[in-house]
Amino acid sequence: MSTPEQQAFENLIAVVSRVAPEIARPIVQELFDQGRNLKMIASENYSSLAVQFAMANLLTDKYAEGYVEYEGDIKPRRFYAGCENVDAIEAQTARWACELFGAEHAYVQPHSGADANLIAFWSILTNRVEAPAVGDKNPATMSHEEWEVVRQKLGNQRLLGPGLYSGGHLTHGFRHNVSAKMFEAFSYSVSEETGLLDYDAIAKQAKEVKPLILIAGYSAYPRKVDFAKMRQIADDVGAVLMVDMAHFAGLVAGKVFTGDFDPVPHAQVVTTTTHKTLRGPRGGMVLSTKEFRDTLNRGCPLVAGGPLPHVMAAKGVCFKEALQPGFRDYAAQIVKNASALAASLEKRGVKVLTGGTENHLVLIDLTDRGYTGRQAEEAFRECKITLNRNTIPFDENGAWYTSGLRAGTAALTTIGMKEAEMDEVASIYATILDHMESKPGSKAKHLWKDAGAADKARDGVDALMKRFSPYPALDLDTLGKRFLG
Ligand SMILES: *Cc1c(COP(=O)(O)O)cnc(C)c1O
Repeated sequence: MSTPEQQAFENLIAVVSRVAPEIARPIVQELFDQGRNLKMIASENYSSLAVQFAMANLLTDKYAEGYVEYEGDIKPRRFYAGCENVDAIEAQTARWACELFGAEHAYVQPHSGADANLIAFWSILTNRVEAPAVGDKNPATMSHEEWEVVRQKLGNQRLLGPGLYSGGHLTHGFRHNVSAKMFEAFSYSVSEETGLLDYDAIAKQAKEVKPLILIAGYSAYPRKVDFAKMRQIADDVGAVLMVDMAHFAGLVAGKVFTGDFDPVPHAQVVTTTTHKTLRGPRGGMVLSTKEFRDTLNRGCPLVAGGPLPHVMAAKGVCFKEALQPGFRDYAAQIVKNASALAASLEKRGVKVLTGGTENHLVLIDLTDRGYTGRQAEEAFRECKITLNRNTIPFDENGAWYTSGLRAGTAALTTIGMKEAEMDEVASIYATILDHMESKPGSKAKHLWKDAGAADKARDGVDALMKRFSPYPALDLDTLGKRFLG
């Protein structure tokens, strides 16, 4: 078999291998590993080869600090010469982003989701705190003392976001992240009884805290969020609603989350990654209303350095793919698969947080099983399933060992799995979880009650992955022979 993809991939690796076989080899090995293990990390996916190839080129060499205005004619605002081609790529990518999400503005330069959040924070601070404090003066020429007054104000603002144990992200005000160092950070949690967001409680807390920024969005929450309600809560206290849709951007793009559950019409600022359910390159993006457009466009120099033009190109390919009608079917299937997985797990006695899911992820509660999330994560990897341990609300094992597992269906859906396969997956999960030794001591390596169970689970994964391939256009045998020996 020699598809254009096969030839391109083989040549690309051959070129790398001539210089650094030590790097080429693990790249090819990763291709094999990803085709043999069940990829169920909820934040991962398989991007297309078109996305990958758009990144693998000379665009990485170009400096393009500044930005490009893309409404109407392209107007470059760059600090460096020779950016015409990057201008074209950035403008096209941003236009597609606006079309895909129905956004007023898109800033497609952020290098990652964490960067996107930092740029968003500082854009909000600039508009809502710095601008009124500075008035018509120029910060660059204010006296040291005058600027110090502004800086103290910037450093004295409040953030209210979802807690880490309630599905929030590190960048939402976790103490070890800069978000809790630059803001006086407060977090809201899910209800202890239901595990669900309690909007009345959040509204009450927002009235007490009066934050500058209210964050909604999550990395580990299996239900829809009502962004219309969150906007009301923010408006009532004069806060800016910032939604971090890093995990579920693909479900927004694919119109699974619409109306009150679509963050874009409700939030002033929406941040995201492009590599999770959206299935693009590893990167970030910020969408906003017109109010924040000019400040976001100055994300460099505000926070970031030069953009990654090769990654912006790949984001463009990703958005074009997501604008095709098939992407809606994909997004809908992700959620059907996650629901099927949750139901099949529950049927087999595996406890699923909130009793199910409305998005791409399933959270498994291990509290009654006597081993930690960390031990289960290791046992799953031994059985060729890649997923991650996760804290559950009010977790007593802490963020390192944890009492939960998080599984996502975005990647398996990309390779074509449906509800029937999710039942097979759930059966493998139950085999693993039911045959792990309880109480090995939370810091010990996991133990099997009977080693045959691990073999049985591995056989199950092999049988499944034999029927599906992440890259049907690639001939693994040829690649293996040539590069792995
Ligand atoms: C993944 C994630 C991020 C961070 O994205 P990176 O690209 O890893 O920096 C930020 N916020 C949320 C909610 C996420 O899930």
